[in-house]
Amino acid sequence: MAGQDTSTMRDLLSRQREAFTAARPEGLDVRRDRIRRAIALLRENSEALCNAMSADFGNRSPHQSMITDVAGTVSFGKYCLKHLDKWSRAEKRHVQFPLGLLGAKAELRYEPKGVIGILSPWNFPVNLSFGPLMQVLAAGNRAMIKPSEFTEKTSDLSAELCAKYFDESEVAFVTGGPEVAHEFSSLPFDHLVFTGSTATGRKVMEAAAANLCPVTLELGGKSPVFLGRGANLEQAGERIAMGKMMNAGQICLAPDYMYVPQDQEDAAIAAVELGVHRMYPSLLENDDYASVVTDRHFDRLKGLVEDARDKGAEVIEVNPGKEDFSGTNARKMPLTILRNVTDEMQAMQEEIFGPVLPVKTYRDVGEAIDYVNQRDRPLGLYYFGTNAGEREQVLTRTISGGVTVNDVIFHVSMDDLPFGGVGPSGIGSYHGVEGFREFSHARSVYTQPKIDVAKLGGFKPPYGAATEKAVRGLMK
Ligand code: NAD
Repeated sequence: MAGQDTSTMRDLLSRQREAFTAARPEGLDVRRDRIRRAIALLRENSEALCNAMSADFGNRSPHQSMITDVAGTVSFGKYCLKHLDKWSRAEKRHVQFPLGLLGAKAELRYEPKGVIGILSPWNFPVNLSFGPLMQVLAAGNRAMIKPSEFTEKTSDLSAELCAKYFDESEVAFVTGGPEVAHEFSSLPFDHLVFTGSTATGRKVMEAAAANLCPVTLELGGKSPVFLGRGANLEQAGERIAMGKMMNAGQICLAPDYMYVPQDQEDAAIAAVELGVHRMYPSLLENDDYASVVTDRHFDRLKGLVEDARDKGAEVIEVNPGKEDFSGTNARKMPLTILRNVTDEMQAMQEEIFGPVLPVKTYRDVGEAIDYVNQRDRPLGLYYFGTNAGEREQVLTRTISGGVTVNDVIFHVSMDDLPFGGVGPSGIGSYHGVEGFREFSHARSVYTQPKIDVAKLGGFKPPYGAATEKAVRGLMK
């Protein structure tokens, strides 16, 4: 992929920042107009975008792409339009007694930061570029976006469309591989939003640190599923299968592994299998089932399974149509369940990011909680069950970016809930009012009354009795 060179990117950043500074203050109508144009771009080109995503993946259902990438992002844009007025209103804050009586005022204004860089991954290439963009624009910023080199057709089309709907001083795409990405993350943005792996997130934060550029890191990790004792197994199995097979499991929030009561392991696995059979009667010729994005990613997943098999795992391929996967280059992989897994297996060490589901068992749910607590804090955590005590035990003794109860992944689709990780699964969040604030500068504005407050408070030299009285008051 031909990429932009550093000086071109730096020039673009300078032009955006100059335009940003010159145009201030910009009314909310300008922000609304930009969000509407981003929505129009998605609406008017939805088919072309879905085709590009399908071509990039090898196969990816346009229905799925509409749900996960295009319509979902349009809907998020509309949510931003609806809440913009409320979000951007200045907030009155308290001043200490008796300053209020003397006419002092304090307020918090949410102001745009300037130019925000957006670095996005390949798994939801439209959603994870245009989704953050909606809130970046809502907060009054300009944006430069560097999408993934793995979904080149979608990235090129997004760049082409962006140039039609936006002046490059408002929003612009730059394209290229990891070198361009590194240069991009080294630019002195006013804020950088990165969505991708934890390993790359570390590099991004390091590059941004040189500029003291604040970052939002939307990363990944191993999101566990807890199957509680009272869980409706049939329902849970189908929901887990859906979360693990949508986009062929290439979802940051996909359930990574499943923890089940020891005496329910067979039934839980059977329930997942049943769910796969119901939703995907076949896989190879089934357009609903996505391909793995590249040969490299496919080989990695195969490698995870082989490594687990070599180290003693039982490997169950869920192949409802009994299809022969050996002679195809479609990069389609049936859901592969791993039993008897150990920590020595790669599948239990790295984020899976594909249709492979390790199963662990517990006698007491406390064991499963301890296991999760001994590892990196995950992006998502899922609990299925009806026992409120057990649910709260799991929720109050673990830490994760977010939680869905009685399903997987869904918390991300609640526009009003902040979405983000914690520690190795991410820093900061967007969606909800939190996203607007993430991309805004909360600027404190204090207005002093006419009266000499410093003197009245005893803070003005020469220090003396009034000062001592004031200090005693503060220390009381
Ligand atoms: P990745 O980290 O390989 O790449 C993401 C982006 O980083 C790409 O645009 C790439 O060009 C860029 N990049 C590559 N090397 C870089 C460098 N040295 N410096 C700066 N940028 C660089 O991630 P991926 O494989 O595209 O996506 C999969 C990962 O993303 C998974 O770990 C998944 O969990 C995570 N993810 C997280 C979320 C979330 O919202 N939390 C969403 C989707 C994916």
